[in-house]
Amino acid sequence: MKLSRFWICLLALLLLAGCKPHAHGEPCGPASRELTAMDTYMAMTIYHQPREEAEQSLQQAVGLIAELDELLSVTDTDSELYRVNHSGGETVSLSEETQALLAEALALCKSTGGALDVTIYPVVRAWGFTTGDYRVPEQEELRALLEKVDYTQVALTEEGVTLPEGMELDLGAVAKGWTGDRLMELFRSAGVTSAIVELGGNVQALGTKPDGSPWRVAVQAPEGGYAGALEIADKAVITSGGYQRYFVQNGETYIHIMDPASGRPAETGLHSVTVVTDRGIMGDALSTALFVMGREKAVDYWRFRQDFDAIFLSENGTAAITEGLEDCFSLCGEWEDRPMEIIRK
Ligand code: ADP
Ligand code: MG
Repeated sequence: MKLSRFWICLLALLLLAGCKPHAHGEPCGPASRELTAMDTYMAMTIYHQPREEAEQSLQQAVGLIAELDELLSVTDTDSELYRVNHSGGETVSLSEETQALLAEALALCKSTGGALDVTIYPVVRAWGFTTGDYRVPEQEELRALLEKVDYTQVALTEEGVTLPEGMELDLGAVAKGWTGDRLMELFRSAGVTSAIVELGGNVQALGTKPDGSPWRVAVQAPEGGYAGALEIADKAVITSGGYQRYFVQNGETYIHIMDPASGRPAETGLHSVTVVTDRGIMGDALSTALFVMGREKAVDYWRFRQDFDAIFLSENGTAAITEGLEDCFSLCGEWEDRPMEIIRK
């Protein structure tokens, strides 16, 4: 069969635009949504035809985010997590969703040796990060609060979760990664093959761009703008950095990522840690945990696990990446000519 030039051109154009010919002449191109949830800005874009199906998937995605927010919010007095945190030592039965997330989060607390600790909430609150009434707690106060921080005392069974009295959970370090995974699942089961979501500092991509090329995800520079860009497909790219939430008092900067050992903001000379993984929950947990560990311990942990990659930007303006990112990460802007160390196994 010989196709005329016209048809070849039309076909090529349609393929480039990433959509198939369709009956009703709906508009091609991505369907998108922006929203604020989980205390952060979120955006979702999917490439899928027919258009009504794409819109329907986005609608379901917005519903799913709202559902998760209602379960996991630490401040909303109607949330499941709130109920857990005010249970006075009683066992609280959990939804399947929270049960599964908590099980995974606790496993990651253990794996990171407590650098991630989901019982950090009393400390986070004392610094004012939940309300915005920032303050620097006294050492004595922190010492008392740290007695309530120990993920190993969280008992999770088929009946639900039991926390010692006064202990409270904070899933802020993992909830967005979990949400991203659930969104990817939702889109995949709706037959979507190309989608990207941004949930605060988390980016999660399904497949590639519609033309088959990788997604480009930027990594922020300390001074504003971008330090580098990653090319990825089917990955979560999740960054934790002091710059995302902090306050300044008497010339000192206090960030929202806490070292559970001291009850104070983690200070390890890192500007940010970006983790690249297949799963958002893992990327979210590890970006927070590696930030707390600091570069040296984080690299040991990476060598031990070997199932993720990471980008470390230091406060002194240097960059390092693990070897799996060698071909897909490059520095850009003011960082372009800086040396970049490649960390090998
Ligand atoms: P972001 O929320 O900016 O994406 P993270 O994923 O790093 O950043 O999560 C930071 C949040 O997690 C904090 O706002 C706090 O609620 C909580 N948190 C802070 N330090 C820890 C920690 N060491 N372990 C577990 N949760 C933490
Ligand atoms: Mg995190």
